[in-house]
Amino acid sequence: MNSISLYLHIPFCAKKCRYCDFYSVSFDERLAWRYLDGLAAEIALCKKSRITEGAAVQTIFIGGGTPSVFSGEALHSLCTLVRSSFTIAPGYEWTVECNPESFTNDKGVTLLEAGVTRLTFGLQSLNDRELSLLGRVHSSERCHTILSDHVLSRFTSIGVDIMYGLPGQTMRTLEQTLAAVFDSPYVKHISAYELTVADNTPFGRHRSILPLPSEGETAVMTGSLWELLEKGGFCQYEVSNFAKPGHACRHNQAYWDHKPYLGLGCAAHSYLHEKRWANVRDVNRYIRMVSNGLFPREFIETIDKKKLAMEIVFLGLRKVQGINEAFFQESCGIAFADFIQKDSIGQFVNRGLLEYEKPFWKPTRKGLLMADAIAREIL
Ligand code: SF4
Repeated sequence: MNSISLYLHIPFCAKKCRYCDFYSVSFDERLAWRYLDGLAAEIALCKKSRITEGAAVQTIFIGGGTPSVFSGEALHSLCTLVRSSFTIAPGYEWTVECNPESFTNDKGVTLLEAGVTRLTFGLQSLNDRELSLLGRVHSSERCHTILSDHVLSRFTSIGVDIMYGLPGQTMRTLEQTLAAVFDSPYVKHISAYELTVADNTPFGRHRSILPLPSEGETAVMTGSLWELLEKGGFCQYEVSNFAKPGHACRHNQAYWDHKPYLGLGCAAHSYLHEKRWANVRDVNRYIRMVSNGLFPREFIETIDKKKLAMEIVFLGLRKVQGINEAFFQESCGIAFADFIQKDSIGQFVNRGLLEYEKPFWKPTRKGLLMADAIAREIL
């Protein structure tokens, strides 16, 4: 292994959003500093066990939670910890997730000086009614201020996340959100996620009274949104991801291409040496374990060739590029054609949902809309 990606999870947020089922807790300055010590302890454990020895870090992603909820000083310490602990390859990509309410120009400068190349902002919507329903703490005005902050011009790439399929959302409000994003000269990447309502969230508990769009309405909205994004110059490269040329997120591509990554922090996942593991989803337990010299793992599984083959199919059909059958055979030791249901793949080709462009099996635009269903069928 000579290259690797790095993920660091910051499990703190200003306030829990009503739809969120990621692991995060309310921000607490003292706990945040203890957590940083915990990250340093986990990195020391990883180095002692040599799991990343000899590997240069190609991409880094600091996600959450809300990393920008940290003070400038804490962000500086976090970046210094990363830089001093790993060999970072030339031409690396380094992303930090930020939320509009906690990002400031000063924090932007701190991140730039630390070597961060890319920021991504969780805007979700620029409609105040939608933001308040989601339980977000920022306003649309705050999004406008962030999107016009000149410090963004100094990063290699700026991304934003938006959501659709929201209760009461219309194509008109979605278009207003997009128009504001397109207006910013700095935004080069857009992740557009359909709202999923998880049972263990306030949205899940009140699902019956939420004015959610029907499946059909969401499908129409998805198609229209994708067209608008393409018209705005953002090319789709995955079901939920669109970028200006040269601005696709290399870190996410590493996940989808089954490259090795090390996840640090509570609730972080790793995939290394044919094993996948997840760290414990409890910040205090995480700190206790790493401080006592224990790996904070909650589960670990071996990714055998069959499991890997299934994952390549599921993730590959979500990418515009599709599944590379040569890569499939090389990684799984079996020809793609021998692994899948030949009849069903033929039907999807006839229905205009899949096409073959040697060596890629690619979903068409229509096929991308039902990528997961196609994957289930052909397996
Ligand atoms: S800011 Fe993001 S991680 Fe934090 S509660 Fe909201 S959706 Fe969840």
